[in-house]
Amino acid sequence: MRRPAADRRPTLAWSGAWDDGTCALSLAIAPVHSLLPGDQALAQGRWVKLIGGASNQDLAAIEDLAGIYSLVGVHCLDLAADPAVVAAARRGMAWAEGRGAARPWLMVSLSDGADPHFRKAWFDALAIPPRPLHAAGNPELDVSSGRVSGSGSGSGSAGGPVFGVLAERCYGCGRCLPACPLGLIEERDHHLPPDQVAALLAELRPDAVELHTRIGRAEAFAERLAQVSASGVSLRRLAVSCGLEAAAAAPVAAGTRSDPPTPEALAKELWQRHDQLRSAGMAPLWQLDGRPMSGDVGAGTARAAVRLLKAVAPLAPPGPLQLAGGTNERTLPLVHRLDPALRSAVAGIAFGSVARARLQPLLLQAQGRGGRLLDQLDLLPLASAIAGALVAPWLIRG
Ligand code: SF4
Repeated sequence: MRRPAADRRPTLAWSGAWDDGTCALSLAIAPVHSLLPGDQALAQGRWVKLIGGASNQDLAAIEDLAGIYSLVGVHCLDLAADPAVVAAARRGMAWAEGRGAARPWLMVSLSDGADPHFRKAWFDALAIPPRPLHAAGNPELDVSSGRVSGSGSGSGSAGGPVFGVLAERCYGCGRCLPACPLGLIEERDHHLPPDQVAALLAELRPDAVELHTRIGRAEAFAERLAQVSASGVSLRRLAVSCGLEAAAAAPVAAGTRSDPPTPEALAKELWQRHDQLRSAGMAPLWQLDGRPMSGDVGAGTARAAVRLLKAVAPLAPPGPLQLAGGTNERTLPLVHRLDPALRSAVAGIAFGSVARARLQPLLLQAQGRGGRLLDQLDLLPLASAIAGALVAPWLIRG
């Protein structure tokens, strides 16, 4: 089966393998929607972003995720500011482009200070006690063997136990941190030193940058913004990611926030960021971070981002508002229940841990075969169907 190049765009259903050995995968949407450029998608409330993870450096998974989610029509891939990660994502995007998909924006994430998205779990396997404290049965940590079994851990390439955390796979969700009764697991900050920002961005040349910020950090934000500007990279958007839950968890003693954080305080900070972006000549995208890195935990996490939207949207500065943090399949039904003014204030959504978790079994299956998911013709239909089911309702929402 061969189709002319002009006709090789995402189509309604799985189309099987072309006779040149490549595939066309499904999108349950009309091309007019699936091919909306990023700015139009934001204006129409149909923007979808895949969050690869600000500290996720699992290159094999990033390449596969970038390919599959580009194919099903996301407008943007949000990644760690790491040359190897960006190169892996570009390989995945090129694979999808070769199959008719539009090229998404490439966004890299930075932070203006300590932030859970920019940390990794760590523990010293030599510090574990000789006798089991809580052995098999704990899903996150087997202290007796020094093996963490969270997302950022697992078996070595030979299938044997791994002692310690696999740093490249850890994206800082923090779920393993309280699992050890001796507190042996600690978090280590992973955000970029100031003197590296401009050169790194000049090397990566992203389409957009996201700055994670927090109440009380206007000065630090301004410094990061100056570093971004110094890169000379022309950006389509400067996304500002901010919420209340991470702020609430911040140590008051650090003096980095007012206490308690309120929607009013957050909106005031967003107005400050708005003025800063305006001075820098950058177009904003406001990412309301409901419950960070939790969309795969359960349906209930979807409420956090929508709750934040309801509280902040009436007070927010101009610019598109995008949901994130706990988002999953339950988010859109919640948005549909909002009153029309609030509903139309939603420019789109970002899917992070839920997007990765839904494809994780297939990613592992492909890795078990020693190859990319993108090259497993028997697994691709299911992978595209899973990814499309998450993304497509947003691409076509009215
Ligand atoms: S559970 Fe979360 S913080 Fe712990 S190793 Fe896995 S990804 Fe990292």
